[in-house]
Amino acid sequence: MSTVTRSYRIRAYPNGAQRRLLERWFGASRWLWNTTLGIRSEAYRVCGLQLTGDDLSRWLTQWKRTAGHEWLAAVPATCLTQCLRDQDAAFRNFFARRARYPKFKRKSAAASLRFQDAGTAWARGVVSLPKLGSLKLAESLPKVERPGLVTLSRDAAGHYHVSFCAEVETSLLRITHRVVGVDVGLTHLATLSTGEKIPNPKRYHARLKYLRQQQRCLARRQKGSRRREKQRLRVARAHARVRQERQYALHALTTRLVREFDLIFIEDLNVKAMARGLHARAIHDVAFSEVRRQLTYKCSWYGKILETVDRWYPSSKRCSKCRYTLDELRLDQRQWTCPRCGTCHDRDINAARNLPAEGLRQLAGRDDRDLRVDAGDACPEEDLLVQVLAEEARSGHRNRACLEQARFS
Ligand SMILES: [Zn+2]
Repeated sequence: MSTVTRSYRIRAYPNGAQRRLLERWFGASRWLWNTTLGIRSEAYRVCGLQLTGDDLSRWLTQWKRTAGHEWLAAVPATCLTQCLRDQDAAFRNFFARRARYPKFKRKSAAASLRFQDAGTAWARGVVSLPKLGSLKLAESLPKVERPGLVTLSRDAAGHYHVSFCAEVETSLLRITHRVVGVDVGLTHLATLSTGEKIPNPKRYHARLKYLRQQQRCLARRQKGSRRREKQRLRVARAHARVRQERQYALHALTTRLVREFDLIFIEDLNVKAMARGLHARAIHDVAFSEVRRQLTYKCSWYGKILETVDRWYPSSKRCSKCRYTLDELRLDQRQWTCPRCGTCHDRDINAARNLPAEGLRQLAGRDDRDLRVDAGDACPEEDLLVQVLAEEARSGHRNRACLEQARFS
C-alpha cells in the first residue's frame, strides 16, 4: 500500500438560481483578475514596481467599500483571495520561464472559482459551497477526507465541474513479466506490439467530420451576433464530446496496459504525424501526450515501468525481425516487405514491435547488438532483464546492481 495524491473532477449541475449567481461571481473574479493584471503590468512598465497579491488584496478591501463596487462584497471572500493568489502563481511561473505572460480573461472562455470551504456535509457525500448551497453532482463523492480547496469551473461548452485533490491509498498490481510497445495513431487509437490494434471510439470519425462542418459554419457567422454565440456553444460542445469519448477510450486503454504489462514502451513524440496536416497533428498530439500522462501516473501508482523511446529512433523503417533499416518509407505505405529477410510488415505493428527492443536497450544502457531479438524468439537474456526491471519497479527504486548482474550473467 502506498499513498498518492489523486485529483478528482466531477460534473456538477447547478440549478438556475445557482447558475445565475455563479455567472455574477465569475464576472467579479474576471473583473478582479483583469483589473489587477492591468495595474501590475502598468506599475511595472511605468515605474518598474513589482506588486504582489498582498498589495493588491489591500486594494481589494478598499474596492469593496467603494460606491459602485459593492457587488465585489457579494462574492465569497476566499474566492477573490484565491484569484489573487492564482495571479501570483501565474507571475511566478512567468518569471521562472515556465509559462507565458498572464493573459486577460474573456467572458466566453472557461471560468473557475476556488472555494476554501466545501461544507461539513462532505462526509455524507454532499458538496456545499459558501453562499451557494449544496450542488447536484453526476456521481457520488469518493470516500476521502474533506479537501482544503475545491474548484468549481465552467468550460467553454457551458459544463460545470467540481475538482479537488485528495490523498488516497493504492495497492501495487501483480507482476506479469510481460513487455509491450505502444504506437499511438490516428486511424487506430493505438497499436500494440502484440499485434493488436485498438480501434477508435465508435463514431469517432463521424464526430470529427461534424466538428469540422460546425467550425466552418462558425467562421461564417457575423462577429458579435447572437447566432455566432449560439454556434460557438455548438462547436464547443462538439469539441467536448470528441474529447470525452477519446478520453474515456484512453483511460480504458492505459488501465488495461498497466494491468497486463510490467514494462511499457512508447515513442517520445510522433514525428510521422508532423506531415499529416495541421488538424490531424493537433488531435494526434493531444492524444499522444494524454496517453503518456496517464501511463506516467498509473505506472507510478501501480509499480510498473514506462519508458519513452527516443523520437529519432526509426521505428517504422526498421524491420523488427532482422533490424534491417529502410532508406525511406512513404507515409502512405501501410505495408512493406523487408528486402533482407522477406517478412511482410504492417507499418504500425512493426513500429510498435521495435519499441520494446530499443526501450530495453535504453533501460539497460547497452549497445544495440547485445539485445538483438533473433527470428521471433526472445533471447533468455532479455527475459531476465524484464524480470529484474519488473521487480525493481515494484520495489520503487531502480537498483543498478541488479541491472549489472543481469547484464553479465
Ligand atoms: Zn527483415
